[in-house]
Amino acid sequence: MDLSFITHTWWGAALFIIVCGHITIMCTSLYLHRSITHAGVTFNPVISFAMRMWLWFFTGMSTKHWVAVHRKHHVFTDTDGDPHSPVLNGWAQIMFFGVKYYRAAYQDPASMAQYTTGCPDDWVERHIFEPHKYTGPVLLLILNVLLFGFIAGPAIWLGQVLWVPFWAAGVVNGLGHTIGYRNYKVKDASRNIIPLGLLLSGEELHNNHHKYPSSAKFSKRWFEFDMGWNYIQTLRLFGLARVNMVQTGLADFKERARVRSLVISQAALHAREAAIERVHTATDAAKDMAQAATAPAVAQPAKM
Ligand SMILES: [Zn+2]
Ligand SMILES: [Zn+2]
Repeated sequence: MDLSFITHTWWGAALFIIVCGHITIMCTSLYLHRSITHAGVTFNPVISFAMRMWLWFFTGMSTKHWVAVHRKHHVFTDTDGDPHSPVLNGWAQIMFFGVKYYRAAYQDPASMAQYTTGCPDDWVERHIFEPHKYTGPVLLLILNVLLFGFIAGPAIWLGQVLWVPFWAAGVVNGLGHTIGYRNYKVKDASRNIIPLGLLLSGEELHNNHHKYPSSAKFSKRWFEFDMGWNYIQTLRLFGLARVNMVQTGLADFKERARVRSLVISQAALHAREAAIERVHTATDAAKDMAQAATAPAVAQPAKM
C-alpha cells in the first residue's frame, strides 16, 4: 500500500495526526478509564499491553497518575477536593490549563496512595513505563523527524502529543461539566456534551458516565452513540474483551451475567464498589469533621 501521501501532502499529514489522535483517545477511554479505573471491562492481556504501549509512546502518561486523579474526581466531583472542576475553577481554566490541575493532583502523595489500587505493577511498568515515561514521546519525535523532516516532523509531533491534554484534560473535563444536556439529575454538574461520541470515543457522554461510572457502555438513549462501546463489542466478538458491568437505557438495569466467569468478575466488582462506597462514607465524615473544626463558634446568649 502506497502511504507516501502521508509524508508528501498536508492533508495526508493532517489525516495521520487525526488517526493517531483517535487511537490515543480510544486507548485512554478503553484501557485507562473503562478498564483500569472503573473495572467495567477486562481486556485480553495482549490487547491491554498494546494499549499501554501506545499510550506510553504517544503521551508519556503514567497509568497510576491518570487513574488516581480520575478516581479522586469521581469521589469529590465539583466539590472541594475535585482535582479539576470547572464549577470551582472556571471552564476556561480547565479547558486550556487542564494539565496544570492534573499535574498538581498527581503530585499529592496521599492521593497516589489512596486511589491507585489495581493499577499494573509488573516488570515493564516498574522498569520502563514509569521511570522512563517521557522516552516514548522522545522516540516518537525522532520517528517523525525521520519520516517528515525537521520542520514538519516536530509540528506533527506537537499535534500528536497535545491531543490528550486538549481533548481529554481540556474538553471532557472542562466542557463535560459546563455545557450540554443531562439525562440524570446527579449531584455534580456533569453533562453530555453531544449525543454522538465519535471524536472522543464516547467520553462526550459524561453525565451518563457520572451516573453509572462502572458501566462499560456510556450511551443510554436511542440517539446516543458510543464509539468506545462499539470497539468493546468488536473485541468481544473475538473473545478479546469481557464486559464486567453494563447499564443500558435510562432505567437502573444491570445486564445479567451470562457466563460463569462473568459471575465471578461481577462478584469481585461488587466487592470493589463496596470498598469505594466505604471511601465515600469516610471522605464525607472527614469533610464534616473538618467543617465542624473550622466553623466559627456560635455565640452563647448572654445570661440574664
Ligand atoms: Zn467528570
Ligand atoms: Zn470515570
